[in-house]
Amino acid sequence: MRILITGAAGFLGSHLCDRLLKEGHQVIGMDNFITGSPDNLTHLAGHPNFSFIRHDVSNFIFVPGKLDAVMHFASPASPNANSPFGYVNLPIQTMKAGALGTHNSLGLARANNARLLLASTSEIYGDPLEHPQRETYWGHVDPIGLRSVYDEAKRFAEALTMAYHRFHDIDTRIVRIFNTYGPRMRLDDGRVVPNFLQQALRQEPLTIYGDGSQTRSFCYVDDLIEGIYRLLLSDEHDPVNIGNPVELSILELAQMTNQITQNPAGIRIIPSERGESDPQRRQPDITRARKILGWEPEISLRQGLENTLPYFKSKLGLV
Ligand code: NAD
Ligand code: UDP
Repeated sequence: MRILITGAAGFLGSHLCDRLLKEGHQVIGMDNFITGSPDNLTHLAGHPNFSFIRHDVSNFIFVPGKLDAVMHFASPASPNANSPFGYVNLPIQTMKAGALGTHNSLGLARANNARLLLASTSEIYGDPLEHPQRETYWGHVDPIGLRSVYDEAKRFAEALTMAYHRFHDIDTRIVRIFNTYGPRMRLDDGRVVPNFLQQALRQEPLTIYGDGSQTRSFCYVDDLIEGIYRLLLSDEHDPVNIGNPVELSILELAQMTNQITQNPAGIRIIPSERGESDPQRRQPDITRARKILGWEPEISLRQGLENTLPYFKSKLGLV
C-alpha cells in the first residue's frame, strides 16, 4: 500500500512509519513539527520507500500520486499545562488539527478512494463514570473544561469520520488509543512516564500530582502499533479501544519506576494543578480488540519501562 501518515514526526507517528516500512509499504510522512521533531525521522532519510512533506494538515492537503490509505495522527497530545507542547497551551491548533485536519484527511481519502484510519483517544470518555471503558460508553466530558479542546476535537473527528463512512461510503477505522509510552516521547512532553523516567535518572524525587491514587493503564508502544496495524487491515468501522488493561495507581507507577532505576530520592507529592480536569480512573476494556483483531498487549509495564530507559539515558547524556 501507499500510505500517508499525518503527525509522522511525533512519538506514535514515527513508530508507525517504521512498522509500515518494515511490512514493505510505501510511506509518506507529513508533519508541521508543532509538537514533533525531525529527529524522530532522521533514521529514515534515504529509505527508498519513505518520503516526507512538511505541511500543516489544518490546511488543504495535497499529495501527488495515488494513495491507498491515510492514517491521521497529527494532533498535540499531552495534557500538561506546564509544557509549551501541551494541548492546553495550543488550544486553537489542537481544535484545528482534530476538526479541519480530520476533514482534510477524509477529503483526501475520498479523492483517492483510500482507507482512512483516525487516531482517537480514551479522552473521548472524559472522566468516566463507567469502568473499565467499553466502546459503547458515551463518555463524561466537560465541553468547556481545560481538556475540552482536545476531547471535543477528537469527538468531532469521530463523528465526522462516521459521517464520511455512512454518507460517502469511505472505508474508515477509528482507534481509541489509551495511555501509551516508549522511546521517542519528548523529554519535556509533560506526560507522566517521561516525567518520572527523567526525574528518576537524575535521581530527583518523582512528582506526583494530587495524592497519587488516580489510576491509568499504560501500553508499550510496540504493542499499540501492532494493534493499530491489525485494525488497519481489518474491516471494522466502529471504534476499537487499543491499550493495556493492567491498571495501576500513579503512586504504584512511581514506586515501580524508582525501583527499576534504583532512584533513592523517593517521591514528592504536589498539589494537582489539573484539579477536577484530571480523570480519576482509566482502563480500557479490550474485549472488542481481542475478538475482532485477535490482539492483546504482550509487554509488561516493567519490561516496557526497561525498554524505554536507554532512550531517555541517551537524551539526558547519561550514556
Ligand atoms: P506527538 O505530539 O508526539 O505527535 C503528534 C504529531 O502531530 C507531532 O509530530 C506534531 O508536530 C504533529 N502535528 C500536530 N498538529 C499538526 C498539524 N496541524 N499539521 C501537521 N502535523 C501536526 O503525540 P503522540 O503521542 O505521538 O500522538 C499521536 C496521535 O495519537 C495524536 O492524534 C493523539 O491524539 C493520539 N493519541 C496518543 C496517545 C498517547 O498515549 N501517546 C493516546 C491517545 C491518543
Ligand atoms: N502525573 C503525575 N506527575 C507527573 C505527571 C503526571 O502525577 O509528573 C499524573 C497526572 O496528574 C495524571 C496521570 O499522571 O493523573 C497521567 O498523566 P499524563 O499527563 O501522563 O496523561 P493523562 O492520562 O492525564 O492524559
